[in-house]
Amino acid sequence: MNTDHPHLRHDVALANHIIERFHLSNAFGHVSARIPGTDRFFFPTRRSPGLADENKLLVLDVAGNLLEGDGQPNSELWIHARIYAARPDVGSVVHAHPPACIALTQIGQPHRVVHNSAGVFGDGIPEYDRIGLIRSRELGDDLARALGGSHAVMMRGHGFSVAQPTIQGATVGACFLEESADLQLRMLAATGGDASRIRAFTREEAGLVSDQLAEGPLARAWEYFTTAAELRPLGS
Ligand SMILES: [Zn+2]
Repeated sequence: MNTDHPHLRHDVALANHIIERFHLSNAFGHVSARIPGTDRFFFPTRRSPGLADENKLLVLDVAGNLLEGDGQPNSELWIHARIYAARPDVGSVVHAHPPACIALTQIGQPHRVVHNSAGVFGDGIPEYDRIGLIRSRELGDDLARALGGSHAVMMRGHGFSVAQPTIQGATVGACFLEESADLQLRMLAATGGDASRIRAFTREEAGLVSDQLAEGPLARAWEYFTTAAELRPLGS
């Protein structure tokens, strides 16, 4: 067993558990983390994120090569590999299939900031319209282009990919984004589908609350999500 970066390995497993326990994904979805200062990343084997094991993580590079570990990587490894290749600032990627975000993409509603926790997404979230899984380098590059310099990209009928400097930020940001989409759907329902009645935050207003992934609030949220994920049973 490779014992390099034990804390990061531990956090990668925890982050994967979080996205399953908090219903961002069930059998599918994955969280990765760049090995600091390299073009390599830790990635779980091909099973539910809820079953990720810190002692069985794989090491891949941005060209999609499996460098260390036993087992098969998840087939959408290209999402992670090509975002890391395109974005040296990104230290972690969450790819999940969260229902509220998928619903927004399928009714043609762009994500809007409707509560404080989503302030970090105030510059807008681009959409990737092509349906289907990202199972090739070319599609990974396509998705990375759609993401551009943003914090996340919505994937129509599929889910999202969130890219952040840290695994804590990517994971908590992913939870906040699904919470935000769920609220937006409730607001749309409450207004009879009239999006113009939603008092979405302006870019300036979102900027005032864009610190929800800053050090202090992030540490508190990470503590909550990791502790709750460890207490919740798989599939709860
Ligand atoms: Zn997927």
